[in-house]
Amino acid sequence: MPSSPRSAARRANQKKIIDGTETMQTKTTGCGCFQPNGRLVSPEIMFDGTDTTNSSYGDVTLSRCQDCSTVWLRFFIEYEWFARSGRWYRAPVPAELVSDVTAENAIQILNTLEPRFAGGSHFNSNGFETKALVDLRP
Ligand SMILES: [Zn+2]
Repeated sequence: MPSSPRSAARRANQKKIIDGTETMQTKTTGCGCFQPNGRLVSPEIMFDGTDTTNSSYGDVTLSRCQDCSTVWLRFFIEYEWFARSGRWYRAPVPAELVSDVTAENAIQILNTLEPRFAGGSHFNSNGFETKALVDLRP
């Protein structure tokens, strides 16, 4: 596969993707979904599951942003008996990894992806970039 495209070539690459002649590899990091508190555009849910490991029962979703085609892995957990314990993490998943994601390995994969965003009542934040690993402690 060619190396990552220069921004000047971005438009040409997107055209190729539309033509189906090239696999999804262009990172349109200018899209709003790459803002820590941003949203995916009309997200297409590709996977929705529950992580039953560690008795954490986190909510795991894979969603594709319809604007830039980036697939985001999102993990959310909240402990009902602890106030302000809700937190989410999300990160863009490389195309070659998308089919590997399961509810059980989601946290493991999330911890390897960048940029990684987090937010929620636990952090008192609508979203920020973090290098920290997923924190399951209530
Ligand atoms: Zn996007």
